[in-house]
Amino acid sequence: MSSMDRRTALKTAGVLGVGAAAGCTSTASAEDQTTRPFQVPETTVPVLGREEVFPVRRIYCMGRNYAAHAIEMGSDPDREPPFFFQKPTDSVQLVEPGRTADHAYPPLTENYHYEIELVVALKGGGRNIPVEAALDHVYGYAVGLDMTRRDLQRAMGDEGKPWEIGKSFDDSAVLGPLHPVEEVGHRLEGTIRLQVNGETKQDADLEQMIWNVAEQIHHISQGSELKPGDMIYSGTPENVGPVVPGDLMEGYIQGLEEITVRVV
Ligand code: MN
Repeated sequence: MSSMDRRTALKTAGVLGVGAAAGCTSTASAEDQTTRPFQVPETTVPVLGREEVFPVRRIYCMGRNYAAHAIEMGSDPDREPPFFFQKPTDSVQLVEPGRTADHAYPPLTENYHYEIELVVALKGGGRNIPVEAALDHVYGYAVGLDMTRRDLQRAMGDEGKPWEIGKSFDDSAVLGPLHPVEEVGHRLEGTIRLQVNGETKQDADLEQMIWNVAEQIHHISQGSELKPGDMIYSGTPENVGPVVPGDLMEGYIQGLEEITVRVV
């Protein structure tokens, strides 16, 4: 059987209800009538001033996107092309404006770091998006924390292994509410700051990004098709550092709602 024949046969089997033999209740009509053994919740983000919520598809994260941070991480910011990793969609921890969110200190680490970041939410997408057209795809912006098990990230990196365990874990994508572009414009410059227990730890300007938001969208779309619902954590400025249970983190980006998070 050719691969095309096999695909056709499988498709036909599904329509005819062969799936019932495997314990599924199959219908030949609307997709929303199929049953599931359990429900998987959708990740959505509240949008300030609107009834609608933003459904999250993928979370891309930009590595080393401020020169001073690239240097503190031991790389050369002048010679490095942009690179990205992902966090699971369900690793989002939402922080409501005006409220302090409790953030559980995660397992496996003894060096748990904050990274304050501008988060970009997309309403459009495509492949090979030109830089000039990239911002047309932005739905809005938010304040985020790319929480990082730095000891695990470093150890895996040293061994040449994927450092996913240092970056991609439950609640590691801390996120404030989304601000639609129509309300706040594009966040291309302005203060980005993180305070811990009232002391300023990170303090920079969005215009210090090595690859700006439009360039990030352009670069990601060369490797994968971007789609509505995708988000990009756009990288952190210098002076990342550790937190321990009891610490209070306050994240601020000019023009956006501040987030307040207590490590517990
Ligand atoms: Mn980061």
